[in-house]
Amino acid sequence: MKIHEHQARQILADAGIPVPPGEVITSSEQAAGAYKRVSAASGSSLAVVKAQVHAGGRGKAGFVKLVRSDQEAAEAARFMLTNRMKSPQTPPEGLEVTKLLIAAGVDIAKEYYLAITTDRASRRNVLIASSEGGVDIEEVAHRNPGAILKRPLHPLMGLQAHEARSMAFDLGFKGKQVNQAASIMSKLAQVYGSLDCALAEVNPLIVTPPDAANPDGRVLAIDAKFNFDDNALFRQPKIQAMFDPTEEDPGELRAAKSGLNYIALDGNIGCLVNGAGLAMATMDTIKHFGGEPANFLDVGGGATEEAVTEAFRIILSDGAVKGVLVNIFGGIMRCDVIAQAIVNAAKEVGFEVPLVVRLEGTNVDAGRRILEAARSQIPTMQAATDLADGAKKVVSAVRAA
Ligand code: GDP
Ligand code: MN
Repeated sequence: MKIHEHQARQILADAGIPVPPGEVITSSEQAAGAYKRVSAASGSSLAVVKAQVHAGGRGKAGFVKLVRSDQEAAEAARFMLTNRMKSPQTPPEGLEVTKLLIAAGVDIAKEYYLAITTDRASRRNVLIASSEGGVDIEEVAHRNPGAILKRPLHPLMGLQAHEARSMAFDLGFKGKQVNQAASIMSKLAQVYGSLDCALAEVNPLIVTPPDAANPDGRVLAIDAKFNFDDNALFRQPKIQAMFDPTEEDPGELRAAKSGLNYIALDGNIGCLVNGAGLAMATMDTIKHFGGEPANFLDVGGGATEEAVTEAFRIILSDGAVKGVLVNIFGGIMRCDVIAQAIVNAAKEVGFEVPLVVRLEGTNVDAGRRILEAARSQIPTMQAATDLADGAKKVVSAVRAA
């Protein structure tokens, strides 16, 4: 599960990591007031308006804007709330922006990258850091991988103080910055473990220019991104409460309510399959014959007729779907349940697009009889003898249509 930057900043602040204060707004009329309060609290006219969406790359897309007056804040807010945010991390059509963070702006002397994630190869959590942080970290990883430092963490001891300090030295922090940076790393590691994170990223972690009170500058987090382990959410009620359904694919939300494993994809062939392994094999086979799956959908073993009918509703409500392949190898899932759900969906929504059905396994004869009896109501339906036959048929039917 992902959360918004403003929620991530709150988690950091609660853990004692210094973060500039801010306010969330949902309309451009609120921008001037929020700007005035934020700048009064920070004692600086510099503020930053930031789109709150579950994707990065906002800076380069124009959705992180430095402002120095209430008018500039309102103007930036209007732009962000009336344009879609497009970056390499969003779908091509971009994301709608409905919430903005107006945060106190800071002057930046240098930007760093800091993250903790789980590294499957070493089977440990790993601290990742770079002195070349900011908006181009992917570029740095590509051009100069040596500039990205990694330290695997001990499974029981976590990040130890001396390791954090040595990372701070390796990153080039100087003087009083070292303790500040090391303490931020330790607190981030603590948060990572205690909140069951899958990713805790601060990019950039910054150092402010020196001033009289802080001759070495201050180390602050000014952007944060968290991802949580969905399987641990049951014991993280505070994180669960941060869930924002407006950031999720509507089909995926509906599917989750019916206990279906559904993931929307970019292609045009809707798939309804039982079992995650078979679903992946089905997608591979469709691709092998030159098609593109529109979704991954595993109805699982124990799904009811109503849940499977809902699965068809979800698939057929996706305007990109130009054909549907049903591939069922009935074990716990019974073929007659699937067949009845096809008939229900045909009655309710209608299969205007080609439908190819491959049924095998438990109650297959009953399933075939149900489909045969309803054949006249589902004129676009074809039967397939096996998976390859089904994939070929649906790919060519979609091409022909
Ligand atoms: P992202 O592009 O979605 O990762 O958004 P960030 O919050 O990381 O902002 C992108 C960039 O904007 C940062 O790397 C900074 O260079 C700049 N930026 C963000 N906040 C501030 C700020 O308060 N002051 C200054 N000077 N620059 C900022
Ligand atoms: Mn960032």
